[in-house]
Amino acid sequence: MANFYTSLSEVKNALSGGEVTVEGLVKHYLERIKANGHLNAFNEVFADEALQRAIEVDSRIKSGTSGRLAGMVIAIKDNISYKDHQVSASSKILDGFTAIFSSTIVERLLAEDAVIIGRCNCDEFAMGASNENSYFGPVKNFADPAKVSGGSSGGSAVAVQAGMCLAAIGTDTGGSVRQPASFCGVIGFKPTYGRISRHGIIAYASSFDQVGPITTSVEDAAILLEVMAGADEYDSTLSQRPVPHFSQNLAEPGKKKIAYLEEAITSPGIDKEVKDVLVKYIDKLREEGHTVEPVTFQYLDYLVPTYYILAMAEASSNLARYDGVHYGYRSLAATDLQSTYKKSRSEGFGKEVKRRIMLGTFVLSAGYYDAYYAKAQKARRLIREKTEEILSEYDFILTPTAPEPAFTIGEGSKDPVISYLADIFTVQASLTGLPAISLPMGNNNKGLPLGLQLLANKFAEEQLLNFSKYFLELKN
Ligand code: GLN
Repeated sequence: MANFYTSLSEVKNALSGGEVTVEGLVKHYLERIKANGHLNAFNEVFADEALQRAIEVDSRIKSGTSGRLAGMVIAIKDNISYKDHQVSASSKILDGFTAIFSSTIVERLLAEDAVIIGRCNCDEFAMGASNENSYFGPVKNFADPAKVSGGSSGGSAVAVQAGMCLAAIGTDTGGSVRQPASFCGVIGFKPTYGRISRHGIIAYASSFDQVGPITTSVEDAAILLEVMAGADEYDSTLSQRPVPHFSQNLAEPGKKKIAYLEEAITSPGIDKEVKDVLVKYIDKLREEGHTVEPVTFQYLDYLVPTYYILAMAEASSNLARYDGVHYGYRSLAATDLQSTYKKSRSEGFGKEVKRRIMLGTFVLSAGYYDAYYAKAQKARRLIREKTEEILSEYDFILTPTAPEPAFTIGEGSKDPVISYLADIFTVQASLTGLPAISLPMGNNNKGLPLGLQLLANKFAEEQLLNFSKYFLELKN
């Protein structure tokens, strides 16, 4: 089996044609994982267990009782709980911690006969955009192993990019599914906040965190969303609205009105080839009869600071639970309760996580609360209102996913503020809770993937998926 399958429907055809079995598929992917070990995409591979499950799925296929995801071999980001499996968020502080229950999404994926092949490397507690903040080291880009994978779901993106599984599940707080997908030439989809349960997902910033699929086809993004989405008694922020049959409803989208951010083309901070791709597809969409118009977003400069103030504030609260007592790592040098907290946290958290806990604590502190946290909440509301205003006139907002392609490992900016600024295009969907997708739109002249992002109205996933499928076909 030399070729990769690029969608579940292809796999299903091969399965029903007797060309392959799920067991054969798992063996194939295990070989790919082994051959690409140097990319560091996995924190753990569930080899024996995945093979065992594959055999069970094969027999259910034979007896006609298999689920919708039979044949789908997936990887999960290592911040998603899977009962009786270790989960680390790529942090030393969760060293040796085993999940005592499964996240809702894992239960739903398994119930439909997906096979989970392993847990993927990521930035520590999903904080980062290059996967260099992992306790287990950086993930390397399959297109060029000297380059970063993007992050924080870097391992998940590379696992799909390098054909180590058919699809992977990531989490996206400020771009962590979309940006690594863009760096790796695959599809990354963040649904509307409230679409997919966060139960059993290690929290980073709870008012932003969303689970999302990373795939090589829009159909697979659609079916994974369909399976994972929908009300869950364990997550009260979830919408109760019914989940459409996204994968069956993929249809010709018709003529659309699309806004693009003018600054994405005029700003000197955006890579030339990234701009060229954007311009090329704006022209192409116009040729196809869509309305594509520039808009200016007056709060553009506030997106990144607003996101980081709020995300860090929420993180400082969420990460308070890692005290050296309840979970994972405990310092050997601890002598009493105080020193258990202090030393376990000092030794267990990495540098970036500590920076964010401290900044988050600062912006929430009594003397500064109004100046930072309360102000950022107000800014978030303005950003949401203005974005919704644009989307009341247009179907989508088109931007690059990231201002630059994947950069060289170790050569990211030493100044964290500069790194944070690279999240400019992805955090808008996160601050507003809107769905957004990153689509692979070809490579630059060095062979590095470039992605474009489409952002849509709340719960307009169906329109977004339909248009994405069409858009990608337009490319080919
Ligand atoms: N790069 C952003 C951050 O570091 C987004 C990360 C994410 O979406 N988890 O916060």
